[in-house]
Amino acid sequence: MGKFSLMALPYEADALQPVISKDTIGFHHGKHLAAYVNNLNALLPGSGFEEASLEEIVCKASGGILNNAGQILNHELYFRQLASKPTKAEPTGALAEAIVRDFGSFEAFKDEFQKKGATLFGSGWVWLSADKDGKLVITQEVNAANPIQKGLTPLLTFDVWEHAYYLDYQNRRPDHLAALWQIIDWNVIEGRMKNEIMRE
Ligand code: MN
Repeated sequence: MGKFSLMALPYEADALQPVISKDTIGFHHGKHLAAYVNNLNALLPGSGFEEASLEEIVCKASGGILNNAGQILNHELYFRQLASKPTKAEPTGALAEAIVRDFGSFEAFKDEFQKKGATLFGSGWVWLSADKDGKLVITQEVNAANPIQKGLTPLLTFDVWEHAYYLDYQNRRPDHLAALWQIIDWNVIEGRMKNEIMRE
């Protein structure tokens, strides 16, 4: 039993079908994320990061420790923002206003976010984050990178590693990204914007 443990999903493995299959969730959470947790726990002893938080490791470490910690943080944010039947199809309140202010409209935001996800070369993540002034930005982060490394507050992310969609969509990454909007829990994203919740 290491310092970090595999997060429990806040829904059943089949809850996100047909957007994400039970098999994909099973491998993604039960195999890929579990491996990152086991790898990080194995690398921690003697690293100097034994007492560090996940966020501290992601901002200060390098090499395998950074890669595995980054993937744990990224996946915890990813899995927690999904819901079987979200209560609303788009954000409301301050987040909705900021999206219109910074992208023109919710539709324009979705188009740009999907495009940045579809065009990210190789493995990585597309993110919506807030900067220190509250301005919203979309960034492409390769491999295990996270916007907190740039001083940003991560709000929403789509995983574009092939393991996130290949069983269900094969090479059709854009189709997978377009479908993900159906299962985004905007209450979680709004909570992150208000710093009410990050991973808990
Ligand atoms: Mn993944």
